[in-house]
Amino acid sequence: MAKKTTPMMEQYQKVKDQYPDAFLFYRLGDFYELFNDDAVKGAQLLELTLTTRNHSAKNPIPMCGVPHRAVNNYIDILIDKGYKVAICEQMEDPKKAKGMVKRAVTRLITPGTQMDLNGEQARDNNYLAAVSQQEGKFNLAYTDLSTGELKTTTLASTNELINELVNLQSKEVVVDGDLSSQLTTQFKQRNILQSHQPTILKNAEISYLTQDLEASAQQHVVALLVSYLLTTQKRSLAHMQKAISYQPSSFMKIDHYSKTNLELMTNMRSGKRQGTLAWLLDETKTAMGSRLLKRWIDRPLIDPTAIGERQDKVQELLDHYFERSNLQQELIKVYDLERLAGRVAYGSVSGRDLIQLKTSLQQVPKIKYVLETLDSPVFEELQGKLDPLSDVAELIERSIVEEPPIAITDGGVIKDGYNDQLDQYRDAMNNGKQWIADMQERERKLTGINNLKIGYNHVFGYYIEVTKVNLDKLPQDRYERKQTLVNAERFSTPELKEKEALIMGAQEKSTALEYDLFVKIREQVKAQIKRLQNLAQQLAELDVLQSFAVVSEDYHFVRPKMNTGHSLKIKDGRHPVVEKFMGHQEYVPNDVMMDDKTDILLITGPNMSGKSTYMRQLALIAVMAQIGCFVPAQSAELPIFDQVFTRIGAADDLISGESTFMVEMMEANNALMHATDRSLILFDEIGRGTATYDGMALAQAIIEYVHSHVRAKTLFSTHYHELTALENSLEHLKNVHVGATEKNGELVFLHKVSAGPADKSYGIHVAKLAGMPTSLLKRADVILQKLEQKDVKLPSLSEQKPSNYHAEPISAKVSEPVKNEEEDAPKVEQNGQLELFEPPVAKSKSSVDRRIIHQLKELNLMGMTPMDVMNQIYKWQQKLK
Ligand code: ADP
Repeated sequence: MAKKTTPMMEQYQKVKDQYPDAFLFYRLGDFYELFNDDAVKGAQLLELTLTTRNHSAKNPIPMCGVPHRAVNNYIDILIDKGYKVAICEQMEDPKKAKGMVKRAVTRLITPGTQMDLNGEQARDNNYLAAVSQQEGKFNLAYTDLSTGELKTTTLASTNELINELVNLQSKEVVVDGDLSSQLTTQFKQRNILQSHQPTILKNAEISYLTQDLEASAQQHVVALLVSYLLTTQKRSLAHMQKAISYQPSSFMKIDHYSKTNLELMTNMRSGKRQGTLAWLLDETKTAMGSRLLKRWIDRPLIDPTAIGERQDKVQELLDHYFERSNLQQELIKVYDLERLAGRVAYGSVSGRDLIQLKTSLQQVPKIKYVLETLDSPVFEELQGKLDPLSDVAELIERSIVEEPPIAITDGGVIKDGYNDQLDQYRDAMNNGKQWIADMQERERKLTGINNLKIGYNHVFGYYIEVTKVNLDKLPQDRYERKQTLVNAERFSTPELKEKEALIMGAQEKSTALEYDLFVKIREQVKAQIKRLQNLAQQLAELDVLQSFAVVSEDYHFVRPKMNTGHSLKIKDGRHPVVEKFMGHQEYVPNDVMMDDKTDILLITGPNMSGKSTYMRQLALIAVMAQIGCFVPAQSAELPIFDQVFTRIGAADDLISGESTFMVEMMEANNALMHATDRSLILFDEIGRGTATYDGMALAQAIIEYVHSHVRAKTLFSTHYHELTALENSLEHLKNVHVGATEKNGELVFLHKVSAGPADKSYGIHVAKLAGMPTSLLKRADVILQKLEQKDVKLPSLSEQKPSNYHAEPISAKVSEPVKNEEEDAPKVEQNGQLELFEPPVAKSKSSVDRRIIHQLKELNLMGMTPMDVMNQIYKWQQKLK
C-alpha cells in the first residue's frame, strides 16, 4: 500500500531527491527542519531533540529543527565534520502564497565552498580542488572561493597529487569519473570529501576563466571545477580570477612529510600554529597578508632574481624604521579586501562591508605616500601600480551612511543627498511626523483633553488615544472607534487616515528605493572587482615584506647570500623557533660549513645534545632564505635548493597505518630517488628502527649511495659511532659532533657543533638524567664495558663491494618488511654477547608462541601509543606466519 504523504512532504521529497548526499535544511516559518534520516543523524550530530511529524500516523516522520537565526552555527558544525548542507528557502511570502509555498534550494554548502570563515580560519585559505586523470597523469585545479584564486597544474603520480592536496589542506575534491580505488582510499584516510560532477558546462564564464591555459587537460579540469561551483553555488562567480597554470618544479619542493617534520605550518604535537615557522614569521597586519605568507612558505622560490627582489624590499623596509611603522599603521586599517571582493561578487555584501571597503581604500593613498617617501627604486614599480580605486571609495563615501545597519532591506543605509527621489520620500516621512505632532496639539485644544495622544502600532496604524475618564469630552461626530483598552479607547479620523497613507507609503517606497539603490551601488563596485583583487594582492605582498622586516629586526636575522654553486657557509646559525622559546642568550649558535667538495656531514653526539635541532636549523634557514626572508645567523651563504627531504625522528604515520620502520625506509627511499645534487637531505638516526647491525649496515649503505650517486647536501645524524670511520674512505664526507662534557659524573650538554667525531655516546648518562635507578645504571656500565671490548669494524666502500654491487636504490615496494626479531624480545645478540640476560632460545614454533604470550602479558599498554601497539602486533603476526 502506498504511503500517504502530505503535499508538503511530497515537495520535500522532490527536493531531497536532488540532494541525496547533503543534509537538507528545509525552511518552515522561523525554522529550518530536517526530516527522516537527515533528522535522525542531524539530531545526533547537532545535539538537537528528535521529534516526529504526524505522530498519530502509523509511520511518523522523524524530524528536528534549528531556528533560522542560529542556522550558521549548525551549518558550520556539519561542514567541519565533512558533510554537505543544502539550504531550501521559501521563495514567496507564505501569507500571499496560493496553495503550497514555493521552495527551492538556494545554496549548497560543502567543505570546500564554505565562505564565511571567522576568527583564526580567516587567516587560512579554504581550497576546493578538482582532479581528472588522463594518460596516467593527474590534472589538478584548485580555488579559494572566498578570494577567487584559481590555479591548475599537472602531476605525474598519485604521490605527487596527494602531496599537493595535503599541502593545500583541501577538504573536498571534485571528480568527473571514477578514480582508482587506491586514490579513493587515500582521500578517505585524509578526510577529503569526494564530490562528483558528471556534467561539464560550456559557457562564456568558463571560456573566460580558462582562456590563458594552453593544455586542454588543464582547461578540462578547471572547467570541471567551475561547473561544480556553478551547479552548487547558484550565484555569480564574477570574482573568480583567470586560471593560472603553474609548475610545481618552479618552486622548492618539500613533501608533506618534511613540511610536517620541519613544523612549517603546524606544530607536530599540538596541531596548532604556535611554535611553527609560519607563526614566528607572521607579523602581518592583514588577514590577506597572513594567508599570503603561508602560501610563500608553502612554495619557496628557486629563481635567484625573484628571491633577490624580495630581499631588496625587506632590506629597504628594515633600514627605514619610521616609514615601516607608518606603513603598518595604514595596513592595520585595511580589511580583508580579497574576501570583501568575494562577497561583492556573491551579492552578499552589506552596507557595513562597503564601509570597510571604503576605509581600506582610503588607506591606499597614504600607503602610496609612504612608499614615495622611501624614495627607493625597489618600490618604484609597486608605488606606481597601487590603485586606490578612488572612484569606488568616492561612490561609497557619497552613498552609504557611516554606520549602516546590518540588514540592507530595512532602509537607513543610503545617505541623504545621494538620490533626489529618496530625499523626497524622506521629507514626506519627516513632514508627516511633524504633521502628526501638530495634529495632536490641535486635537488637544479642540477637545480640551490634555493627555490625548496620537500613537502608532503595527497592527492598527496611527490612532488617537483618549483615556476612559475623558471619553465624554470627545465630540461624537468625526471619531471612529478602532480599539478598546482597559483604560482607554483608540480612534481614527478621516484626516488621520489620509496622512497615515501618505506617511506609510513614503516609508515603504523609501525602503524599496534604498534597496534598489544599494543593489546598483553594489553592481558598480562589482564591475571593478579585478582592480580590487590586484590591489589586494599588492597590499598582501607589502604586508608580508614588512612582516619579514619586523622579524628580521626583532630576531637579528641577516640577509643571506644566495650562490649558484655548491658551497654553504653559515656562521653562527640558529633555530629561530627554538631560540624564540629559550631566549637569544641561552641558544648556542652553530656553524654549518660545507664547501664545494663536502656533501655529507655525519653528525654524532649524545642524545638530547642538539643534533636534530642543528639539522632542522639548516632546513629552516634554507626555506627562509628562499621565501625572501632574512635568516637567523651571523652571516649566511647558501646555494639555492631545488628540494628538501627530511627523515627526522620516528614520526608515526598513523593515518596509513604502516609500520614506523617501513615509513622510515619509504621516506629515505623517496629522498634517494628524487634528490638531485641541488637538494638538501636531512637524515636523522636512519636505521634506528631495526636491529643494530641491520640498521648500521643500512645507514652506511645509504650514506655511500648518497655519496656516489646523489651528491645532495646531506646532514646525517647517527648514534652508530662506527660510521664515523667513513670519513677515511669517503672524500665528500666530514664528521662533526655535538659536544658534551662530564662534570662530576654528570653530563653537561654544550650544544656546540665542532669538527670530528664524538668520542662517546653518553646514552647511560642520559638515562641517568632521566632518573633511572642507580643499580640499573651501574649494571649498564658493566655491560657497556664488556661490549666495548669487542671492536666492531665496518667495511669501507672500496674493500667491501661485492662484484655484483649495483647500489640499487631501496624499493618502496618492499613487500616483506625487514624482520625485527631482536627489537622486541629481551635482547639476545646472535654472537652471544648479551647472554648476560638470558641464554639464546631455539626458535621453535612453540617457543616463539610462548614468548609472544609472555610478551603480551608483560605489555605495558598505558605506556604505549596506539601506533606502538599496532607495530607490536604486526611484529607478532609476522613471527607467527
Ligand atoms: P638530539 O637530536 O641530539 O637528541 P635535539 O636536537 O632534540 O637533540 O635537542 C634536544 C634539546 O636541546 C632541544 O629541545 C633544545 O632544548 C636543546 N638544544 C638543542 N640545540 C640547542 C642549541 N644550539 N642551543 C641551546 N639549546 C639547544
